[in-house]
Amino acid sequence: MSNPDNASFATRILDWYQIHGRKTLPWQQDKTPYRVWISEIMLQQTQVATVIPYYQRFMERFPDVLALADAPIDEVLHHWTGLGYYARARNLHKAAQTIRDLHDSLFPERLEEVMALPGIGRSTAGAVLSLSLGQPHAILDGNVKRVLTRWLALPGWPGQKTVENTLWDLATRLTPRLGVAQYNQAMMDMGATVCTRSKPACGRCPVQNDCQGLSQGNPTAYPNSKPKQSIPARTGIMLIIRSGDQLLLEKRPPQGIWGGLYCFPQVEAQSEVEARLQTLGLQGAGYRELTGFRHTFSHFHLDIQPLLIELTTPPPPLLMEADSRLWYNLRHPAEVGLAAATARLLAYPDLQS
Ligand code: SF4
Repeated sequence: MSNPDNASFATRILDWYQIHGRKTLPWQQDKTPYRVWISEIMLQQTQVATVIPYYQRFMERFPDVLALADAPIDEVLHHWTGLGYYARARNLHKAAQTIRDLHDSLFPERLEEVMALPGIGRSTAGAVLSLSLGQPHAILDGNVKRVLTRWLALPGWPGQKTVENTLWDLATRLTPRLGVAQYNQAMMDMGATVCTRSKPACGRCPVQNDCQGLSQGNPTAYPNSKPKQSIPARTGIMLIIRSGDQLLLEKRPPQGIWGGLYCFPQVEAQSEVEARLQTLGLQGAGYRELTGFRHTFSHFHLDIQPLLIELTTPPPPLLMEADSRLWYNLRHPAEVGLAAATARLLAYPDLQS
């Protein structure tokens, strides 16, 4: 096994791309910064196959920056329901409004201006400008980090600033000025299809000859994982208040977990249920516990205990705070953003009868 050969790295990656790279993805057609930007945000933490139908629906409804900026946030979140990590959708919406208001609805073309938009870091900005306009910027998403840390057997967790800086230096040195769009696309494709997280196909890899991780015999040891940290568990009681086909949902405040999404009313202890119903002006005929489950956020677990409460009266009109509560009709679902746990509960067989 030879030492890493930086000089020929890009050529080998580009040669591989000609034969094996992906060239027919929807966002690779009619490439514009806007279309590439939406795809890059959707692809964060999400597989290509999952993203494609969401991307197509999103583009049909929001074909350009202005359509997205002028749309109500609820509609944007509705088109995101199922993709998760909703902060991404809220940031897309805010960024589109910034582009409308500060850049005359034209997607900015300078790296610093793109990085100043909400939800866009250095790697995403570099990807958008290189893939759509051929500007020579390096990228460093999860796929690229994996390929580079393995190729160099670089120790340390990439979330650590010093390790990340080393990776940026390396990525910048390896990125060619010519063919940058193909190179960046190739690195993402390589990470997604060859140098995969748990089973890298090193026999098909264009840089296997000088891959230090492979020569050590254990490439999946890289990138090193984050030092373990235990996260606390909390309990949340979700009140599924039902009258026939209608279920009461509340919109969460924009900040905090599930911000801006519709959820079932939540209390922390069963002793608070009666008081909560009273503040909602409702009366239930007792309640029934449904099967609970654990939902894990980045910093805590939420053990969800659903309680089904059947109303004794038809659903009353929602006079107070009508814009933040709604009666969600199971047969005619409203087009609103739903938290993942809400969507899971709405699919419970107990609610379909
Ligand atoms: S040889 Fe294997 S571990 Fe090394 S970069 Fe290629 S696929 Fe990844």
